[in-house]
Amino acid sequence: MRYQSLQLIKFKTVFCIALMQFIVTAPALSETGNRITILYDSIGEHADMQKDWGFAAYIEFAGKRILFDTGNNTDILKQNSKAAKVDLGAIDIVVISHWHRDHTAGLSYIREINPETPVYVPVNFSTSNADPNEISITRLTKINEISQDIFIISSLRNETGLSKLQELTLALQTSQGLVLVAGCSHPGIQRIVEAASKINPEILNIFGGFHLLRTPAKKINDIASVLRDDYKVRQIAPGHCTGEVANREFLSIFQNDFIHAGIGTVIQIPQ
Ligand SMILES: [Zn+2]
Ligand SMILES: [Zn+2]
Repeated sequence: MRYQSLQLIKFKTVFCIALMQFIVTAPALSETGNRITILYDSIGEHADMQKDWGFAAYIEFAGKRILFDTGNNTDILKQNSKAAKVDLGAIDIVVISHWHRDHTAGLSYIREINPETPVYVPVNFSTSNADPNEISITRLTKINEISQDIFIISSLRNETGLSKLQELTLALQTSQGLVLVAGCSHPGIQRIVEAASKINPEILNIFGGFHLLRTPAKKINDIASVLRDDYKVRQIAPGHCTGEVANREFLSIFQNDFIHAGIGTVIQIPQ
């Protein structure tokens, strides 16, 4: 009897662990619906993923598998994707936010294993960042609906004293408003959100880097308040180059609607 009950306990334990693993890592698009997985970031914790400066997110939305940015190191991108059970060889759409190395390092590898997959890049993107073969690369300006309910917003950093920099932001049209995925937000998160609100004034969530590492706390607080009060952004999930001070300010404004996103974070998004 004792032996049987131990066996039963063992079975139950194994079953529970298997079930937990399934819940945490279940990869199939049709089973889990729409979600965002942070594949590459220097913040957060994940047992099997390596933290590193840079950004990449894997998005399953409207039947498409989207890779947004490709991190700072191809091997780390591969390792983290494997840990998240993301098949980098089965990507439907690649979006590169901007040319900086910490967003583009894995691009040549991704193009190698997904030769037919469309790649969207900013208009001034240099081919040396990709490869000399331009087939399947599309350079974007303005706002584009690249697939049903999937938009890409192009914005320009155009400040005196800084070089001009074009950046792409992903915007997903959900039943509860837009979900934005930003790379570094070099043109300014407010400018990006302003452009996004022309697609849909309801903004559900913003992921990615906000580039506020050197911005004073007071100014960040103002930006957070504008996002919350003027643009009615409901939730915020900053990462990458947002900065600790900015995270603190966003948390104080958004409170329960501040999502602690980092490496390995998986967040369900509505249809
Ligand atoms: Zn950048
Ligand atoms: Zn960056």
